[in-house]
Amino acid sequence: MTQAQTEKVNLLGLSVEKLTAFFESLGEKRFRAVQVLKWIHQSGVDDFSQMTNVSKALREKLAEVAEIRAPEVLGQWDSSDGTRKWLIKVDGGSAIETVYIPDGERGTLCVSSQVGCSLDCSFCATGKQGFNRDLTAAEIIAQVWIACKSFGQLEPRGPRKVTNVVMMGMGEPLLNFDNVVDAMNLMMEDNAYGISKRRVTLSTSGVVPALDKLADVTDVSLAISLHAPNDELRNELVPINRKYPIAMLLDSAKRYIERMPDTHRKMTIEYTLMREVNDRPEHAEQLAELLRDVPVKINLIPFNPFELSDYQRVSNNALRRFQQILLDKGFTVTVRTTRGDDIAAACGQLAGTVNDRTRRAERYRNAAQAVRIVG
Ligand code: SF4
Repeated sequence: MTQAQTEKVNLLGLSVEKLTAFFESLGEKRFRAVQVLKWIHQSGVDDFSQMTNVSKALREKLAEVAEIRAPEVLGQWDSSDGTRKWLIKVDGGSAIETVYIPDGERGTLCVSSQVGCSLDCSFCATGKQGFNRDLTAAEIIAQVWIACKSFGQLEPRGPRKVTNVVMMGMGEPLLNFDNVVDAMNLMMEDNAYGISKRRVTLSTSGVVPALDKLADVTDVSLAISLHAPNDELRNELVPINRKYPIAMLLDSAKRYIERMPDTHRKMTIEYTLMREVNDRPEHAEQLAELLRDVPVKINLIPFNPFELSDYQRVSNNALRRFQQILLDKGFTVTVRTTRGDDIAAACGQLAGTVNDRTRRAERYRNAAQAVRIVG
């Protein structure tokens, strides 16, 4: 690639505001931003010459100074249950994963926000991969663009397959705040994907200062990756809890919900159940007590085993018992059925190939190897 090409502005990840500023910097009218935005995100066009309602002179100018560049798809896998997974190459030698989960009329895309993750939750395959870097806004929205294109959704009268997006793939979205907010704004933008704010969900493990800022810039739905009903256990499972304990996190989440214009909104509590770790009746009782005054629905996720993890899946009996205790206390409780297991696309299994800057992946592999040798 030549120097001139690398300096081109990638329009794929620019919000309406940034695209408008870009056209103004070229001495062009503001409405050009909406025209080009529609071509990119509603028609899937990545070649300026196809933008027929843009003058030829401007198209030529754009081709000189800008580009629409999505990362390369290295692989796409389809599960027998309709789940689809993509492995996407990003600059720097790593690859991230994105998963689509169909469920009746609903199609949920689970989008990654970072290459790996710095937080190292003990039950998460992404955490074991270490961390490389934040994704750019273009790399985040590209996951939606790639999925929609693969389903023909960006063609005239194409099927509306991607109805929901969850920022729940690789990475902690609040540690990549600005890029995630820009990408989510594009997901909700009427001239782009037009997904309602109720159907775009940001899931966080609890970066409280960033969560405190979130309501200033967006009103997407919120999910909290809680996974434990007390600080002692959560410190083990979700290490960021040592910095921002449960009470602080729930207070911040409540403040976020309270600032939402719609008074009926609830946050989702994600709770991954691991056998004899956090699945006992007393854990359910503690959870009910903890969430007594918090507007929540609870999503129970049976742990999905992966290499390098010693945790086991919750038994069906323990799962039912846990759910019943919460139902009896009046909570709305759903159980996430495992999807995409045959293509390693289930919740908590996303790994990609992370060019790990933390050397954490190497340490985990060495530790597992030592256990195998001793065993
Ligand atoms: S659960 Fe989320 S925050 Fe924790 S290590 Fe995995 S990706 Fe990171």
